[in-house]
Amino acid sequence: MVLDLGSRDDEFIAMNQSMRDRLLAIAHAEESHVCVPLQGSGTFIVEATLATLVPKDGKLLVLVNGAYGHRMVKMMQVMGRAVDLIEWPEDEPVEASCLDQALQDDPSISHVAVVHCETTSGILNPIDNIAAVTARHDKALIIDAMSAFGALALDARHTRFDAVMASSNKCLEGVPGMGFAIIRKDALEASSGHAHSLSLDLYAQWTYMEQKGQWRFTPPIQVIAALSKALDQFEEEGGQQGRHNRYQENADILMTGMKDLGFQPLLSDTLQAPIILTFLTPKDEKFVFEDFYNKLKDKGFIIYPGKLTKVSSFRVGCIGHVDANDIKEALQAIKQALSEMGVQDGAP
Ligand SMILES: *Cc1c(COP(=O)(O)O)cnc(C)c1O
Repeated sequence: MVLDLGSRDDEFIAMNQSMRDRLLAIAHAEESHVCVPLQGSGTFIVEATLATLVPKDGKLLVLVNGAYGHRMVKMMQVMGRAVDLIEWPEDEPVEASCLDQALQDDPSISHVAVVHCETTSGILNPIDNIAAVTARHDKALIIDAMSAFGALALDARHTRFDAVMASSNKCLEGVPGMGFAIIRKDALEASSGHAHSLSLDLYAQWTYMEQKGQWRFTPPIQVIAALSKALDQFEEEGGQQGRHNRYQENADILMTGMKDLGFQPLLSDTLQAPIILTFLTPKDEKFVFEDFYNKLKDKGFIIYPGKLTKVSSFRVGCIGHVDANDIKEALQAIKQALSEMGVQDGAP
């Protein structure tokens, strides 16, 4: 990150091009798609992709089972574009059969959006089944894979999608500051003038970058330099499969250890992605989340509050540059925090 490169310099232009190619390769999308990066956190690239791909007279159907699905609905409302949703409880995956019915019932739907791993709960949505339905109805599929990309398999040669969005800082283990979308080339070519926003227009971002090699507006150079190194590490680890294996081991050790302490996960094993685990808040009155959080923080571990709307819970992440030893140490810290609080066990 301390490498000092000019944003119009050849060295940076080469690094940027290589980063885009490597991101495309992770989704096996070199033949069919292009990679368009954008400044900002993950939400920016999601909003930009919806704005660019869904035309002003189009209609988006969002499959919702958590906060990030709802966020896409909100984006469309803010943009003043037609949107509909089908909603499932936060502990249930979205279903392809309901989508099939909805597409039959409403031919005005042009695009479908879904979240790969809904980070609200950590649930895995059945992307391949969803993609099979949208392909059969010849509708465009847009996937928010923010917390999945690089760790969960997604292969453009077998799964038909128009766009998948992710960011520099989740499973790719870079620093925050850049999102990117992998977009089917013919869909992007047809999207000139769709965007309601100058800076969130991915068609303009792409054509400018293709013509000049440069970013339209000041690029996050340090973030791109860090992501390029992070991609070296990703490739050294064995790419998506290697990363998935480490996260799965992290998740397995964490799950077993937490169950041993009496905690109950929200999701059954078959629904759980190895990204982030949700546990129900213990019933013991001595358990106060803020105390628990601060005790863990003092021991060097940061966890997440719950994001569920109906159930009291908290979350522990499995991703990032952490391995089995870190997770075992985290479990030790959790055990110690419980005993310092005088909490008998983690049972809800
Ligand atoms: C993290 C995340 C986002 C983007 O969140 P930002 O805070 O804007 O980076 C979007 N969707 C999902 C599923 C996420 O996990």
